[in-house]
Amino acid sequence: MAENIQAIRGMHDILPDQTPRWHHVEAVLRRVMAAYGYREIRMPLVEKTELFKRSIGEVTDIVEKEMYTFEDRNGDSLTLRPEGTAGCLRACLEHGLIHNQAHRLWYAGPMFRHERPQKGRYRQFHQLGVEAYGMPGPDIDAELILLCRRLWRELGLGHKLELQLNSLGTAEERLAYRAKLVEYFRAHYEQLDEDSRRRLETNPLRILDSKNPELREVIEGAPVLAEEFGEESKAHFQGLLERLDEAGVAYGVNPRLVRGLDYYCRTVFEWVTQELGAQGTVCAGGRYDGLIEQLGGKGSAAVGFALGMERLIDLLDEPERFEAAAQPHAYLISVGGLAERKAVALAESLRDALPSLRLQEHRGGGGFKSQFKRADKSGAQVALILGDDEARDLTIGIKHLRTDAGQTTLAQAELVSFLQTLI
Ligand code: ATP
Ligand code: MG
Repeated sequence: MAENIQAIRGMHDILPDQTPRWHHVEAVLRRVMAAYGYREIRMPLVEKTELFKRSIGEVTDIVEKEMYTFEDRNGDSLTLRPEGTAGCLRACLEHGLIHNQAHRLWYAGPMFRHERPQKGRYRQFHQLGVEAYGMPGPDIDAELILLCRRLWRELGLGHKLELQLNSLGTAEERLAYRAKLVEYFRAHYEQLDEDSRRRLETNPLRILDSKNPELREVIEGAPVLAEEFGEESKAHFQGLLERLDEAGVAYGVNPRLVRGLDYYCRTVFEWVTQELGAQGTVCAGGRYDGLIEQLGGKGSAAVGFALGMERLIDLLDEPERFEAAAQPHAYLISVGGLAERKAVALAESLRDALPSLRLQEHRGGGGFKSQFKRADKSGAQVALILGDDEARDLTIGIKHLRTDAGQTTLAQAELVSFLQTLI
């Protein structure tokens, strides 16, 4: 026998009993995005490799070791998108949506990173990304955070997610800080691990982001970026905190929060949970004003975030409860030559009359007993039973499958108003 071909490690099927919870989350996302005036954009899954190198940064985890990069048949280097910010900005620059304009956008879909697969960390995963262009003030940073809070609330997850905030200042301030940081870590070189020693040359801020517990102490003692802030950076961060206070958003300021991507400046934030173990960051984002110029556009403001859909869905309580929304309301059983012929037209007329009715018809023949079994398995609330007698009399049997109410008979003419009560 031929060997089964399996899915690629770290890339998962989302099976039919799981799609209802995805649909639920996606419906809430769409509603909340619309409630704040964000519009959807859809980009290709593949971009030129150069786009990610130039935006995310050559010395980030993503570009150094996580990208799915390949040569296509023309010899061009292409990459499966590891995130959406770069592609979204590329699309908006290409279509003239950036210069002198303001846009609020969102996208959702699969991202690809060659990481070590584990719970909450996959090689194909899904993100919701939200980006706001052309708005430089802290008011839009606050709006994005409020939008997140509403998402968690509507999903019943408000109590599970905590907000951490920091400011990375401007590029110049970071440069001054970088020098101090390098000096500090050089003086503590012995305490650094191999990764951090390498980062010391390439991207010393990332050392602060290290997940190695042995480095905690030396990181605790490092100088703080906020000491380098000029008036503008201070005012921006202060403006954000004031707005959050005003709206009653709880947050913690975490001076070690630097994020893994190079393009951030000023505000950065993460929503974290204690419930998912090591993969506790559900949503992360920040301001990236410099990226537009870096990609060849005219300088303008940009801020955004991405949330991991798998991690969000893992947080849902009783996710099975969403399956009811996908189960049929009714299951039509038909036994006998006349009944089987009449059943098809009957079912079609019911769908005509009730467009949101979910009606599943039995296929594949069999007696009452085996058809009832299928009806039960389908999750339907009622079985509609058509035998030859009912077909002749224009009646139909009704059996409630989820309660003890016995079987009744209705005139077919009354069926629409009966089914309406189930929808
Ligand atoms: P992490 O620190 O967990 O590696 P990150 O900094 O690489 O996250 P971002 O690039 O900011 O993450 O992506 C935003 C969100 O996307 C993360 O907070 C997480 O919820 C989700 N995410 C990132 N990488 C993965 C992955 N490999 N599998 C599943 N979800 C992911
Ligand atoms: Mg990562």
